[in-house]
Amino acid sequence: MNYFVDERGYYGDFGGAYIPEMLYPNVEELRQKYQAIIDDEQFHQEFKALLKDYVGRPSPLYLAKRLSDKYGANIFLKREDLNHTGAHKINNTIGQILLAEKLGKKRIIAETGAGQHGVATATVCALRGLECVVYMGEVDIKRQAPNVARMKMLGAKVVAATSGSKTLKDATNEAMRDWISNPVDTHYIIGSVVGPHPYPDMVAQFQSIISFETKNQLLEQTGKSLPDYVLACVGGGSNAMGMFYHFIDDETVKLIAVEAAGKGIDSGFSAATTTLGKEGVLHGSRSILMQTADGQVVEPHSVSAGLDYPGIGPQHAHLFKTGRGLYASITDEEALQAGLLLTQYEGIIPAIESAHALAYLEKMQFKAGDNVVVCLSGRGDKDMETYMKYFNL
Ligand SMILES: *Cc1c(COP(=O)(O)O)cnc(C)c1O
Repeated sequence: MNYFVDERGYYGDFGGAYIPEMLYPNVEELRQKYQAIIDDEQFHQEFKALLKDYVGRPSPLYLAKRLSDKYGANIFLKREDLNHTGAHKINNTIGQILLAEKLGKKRIIAETGAGQHGVATATVCALRGLECVVYMGEVDIKRQAPNVARMKMLGAKVVAATSGSKTLKDATNEAMRDWISNPVDTHYIIGSVVGPHPYPDMVAQFQSIISFETKNQLLEQTGKSLPDYVLACVGGGSNAMGMFYHFIDDETVKLIAVEAAGKGIDSGFSAATTTLGKEGVLHGSRSILMQTADGQVVEPHSVSAGLDYPGIGPQHAHLFKTGRGLYASITDEEALQAGLLLTQYEGIIPAIESAHALAYLEKMQFKAGDNVVVCLSGRGDKDMETYMKYFNL
């Protein structure tokens, strides 16, 4: 079984590039050039140096002792929360900004929902001195004032998307329109393993540093490079794909992806895509998405902005359909409790996204000595207001 992208840009039944004709030249340029650029030795050295000296990699693999005692297995945390800007997203934006430079692009555009990807993009644009325009729904701009301020301070222009529900999908439409109008000088940095081919593969390769490091760190710490389980939360699926990547072909490693069940699977307020979704096309690729009987995309809900997405990347859809990955979901409440638990057991306040993956530990049965790696995708600073409200702090 092949779990990686094929010549046509597909993962089994999923993937491809479903784009308006006007966008074809941009996506085609990227498709033809991305792999040669990534494989170039000079690119590789620059990427590695920035990940080390700017992002702070390798991120530690930490054996959480008190959590391990509680669950009766060795629970390791892959500490993406310790990266510069506080999450895994910077791995991808560093890769893409270097790629944009190699393509000769002078201007960067991005879409953002809660602002995390917008901040990671504005950060690398400041780092390399490139013009940056971030599209963001008008509603999200009001909800996410601190991240809007960060982007502005970093020198980015934040443009409000004022159509539709004025949220992420409308911001994505605006970014696409911009790219169509500026095909020569502009690169569009997508923030997860979604979008038309080659984005899902390109972003997965940049994030694969997570499992690459984990393998070496496990070997050093346990004498075995393969764990029994790896877990990660899934919005679009980039931290999960980074965590899975170098374990996918080792079928003894169980891959567990955790989606947001919101207020509950049947509540109408959820983002549990594999449970509720059907096959269809979203944001340029064929995947699984939440839709009504007549194919309208359903508005998702999750307490964590990063998981509030109605689809998943095409490679995840393939891992789900083939049974290679287990796709589970966790409610808002379960995630918040898991966030509190990690804080009080280990002194680490996780992003609520990451807390979804931690919460799934409660539902698992381990054998003594099992090695389990949880991707701690981000830190909880940005979520303090939500934690404060929920726990009356
Ligand atoms: C954006 C985000 C996610 C979700 O995105 P993926 O592409 O699914 O990884 C998860 N955790 C954190 C901390 C995020 O900022």
